[in-house]
Amino acid sequence: MSSWKLLFIDNSMFELGAYIFNLNQQSLQSIISYEKNIFWREVIDSWAALSECCGEEINEQTVLKQPLWLNKGIKRHMGSLFCKNLYDAGIVFINDLVDANGAFLSYHDAMEKYDFNLEFSNYNDVLDAIPNDWKILILSRGNNEPHDTQTNLIKLIRNCTKACNCSYKIMIEKYSSIPSEKQNTWKCYLESEDLQWDNIYKNCFRTFEEVKLRQFQYFFVQRITALNPYLFKCHLCDTVLCSFCNSERETIEHFFWTCPLSSHIWSFVDSWLRANNFYLPLTRTNAFFGIPNPVLPHEFLANKIFILCKCYLYACKHSSQIPTTIGVKFYLRHKYLIEKTSVHFGMSFQQFYSIWGELGTVLENLDL
Ligand SMILES: [Zn+2]
Repeated sequence: MSSWKLLFIDNSMFELGAYIFNLNQQSLQSIISYEKNIFWREVIDSWAALSECCGEEINEQTVLKQPLWLNKGIKRHMGSLFCKNLYDAGIVFINDLVDANGAFLSYHDAMEKYDFNLEFSNYNDVLDAIPNDWKILILSRGNNEPHDTQTNLIKLIRNCTKACNCSYKIMIEKYSSIPSEKQNTWKCYLESEDLQWDNIYKNCFRTFEEVKLRQFQYFFVQRITALNPYLFKCHLCDTVLCSFCNSERETIEHFFWTCPLSSHIWSFVDSWLRANNFYLPLTRTNAFFGIPNPVLPHEFLANKIFILCKCYLYACKHSSQIPTTIGVKFYLRHKYLIEKTSVHFGMSFQQFYSIWGELGTVLENLDL
C-alpha cells in the first residue's frame, strides 16, 4: 500500500484508505459527515465532486461494484449501512458477497471465505437491504464473467499520463458552458457564422506570456472590457460617449475599430509595417480575434500586433490621451523590449527572433 494511503488510514476514522477512491459519490458524502479531520474532509469532498462528474448509472455492468457501506441506495431502517465486522473482513462491494455464478453467498459460505464474526441475522440484514431491482440485475447477469470493482473514473485516471490534467478536464467538461450569448453578439456584429471559437479562445493565451495582455484579450473576447457605458453606470465617468471622438456611444466595436481615431491608428500600423516588409493581414475579424490558427512565425507576430494595437488604444483611453502614430510605434517597441527581457519564461531566443524577425530590429532602432 502506498504511503499516502497509510497516512489516510492513520488519520481517518473509517479505515478506507485502500478503497476510498472506488466508493461512489453518495458513500463519500456520508464519510465526509463523519470525518473530523478538515484536511481529509476536503480531500474526500474534492474526490466526491470529481466522482459526481463521472457518475455511473446502475445497470447489469455496474451493479456489482456498488459499495455496500454508507450507500444511500442500500438502506436498513431508513439509514445507510455500515457493518464494521464485515468491512474489516474485506467485504466492501456487492461483488464481495456474490459467487462466481452471480448468486449471493450463504452465511456459511461467506463465513468460510472471509472469516468474520457476525450473527446470522445481521448478515441476512445486509443482504435484505440490497434493493430488489439491483438483485434482479445481478441475477440477470447470471454468469461467471470476471468483474472488477474499479469505477470508470479510476480506470480513466489510471490510463492517462497526467492525472491532474485528466481530472481537470473531467471537471471542466461537467461545469463549463458555452457563452453563446456573447458569441451571438459577435456573430451579429461581424456578420459571420464562421468564427472559430476554439481558436479565438486559444489566441488569448498562446499569443503572449504576459498576464495583463492575456487578460486584456480574454476580456475583449468576453466583451467585458470596461468602456464608458459601463463606467458611466458605475459612476466612474460622466459620459457614455467615445473617449476619443466624443460623438458616438463607446461600444467595443466603435472604440476599437470604427472610431475615426482608432481607424487611423490601424491604417497607419498597416502601412508602416508594409513599408518595413511586414504584411499585416488586417481585417476587422483578425484585428479583434487574431488569425484563427497561427502556425508560421509571421502569423504569430500578426496576432501579437493585433492585441498590442487594441491594448494601446485602451491604454490611451485610460491615460486620457489621444492615440498617435508615434505613440503606437513606441508602445509596440516597449512591449517588444519587455518580451525580449523576459523571453526565457515562455520561449527560446531562437523562437523569439524567428517571430519578431526584421520588425524587431526596426523597433529596436526607432529614434526616441
Ligand atoms: Zn470614437
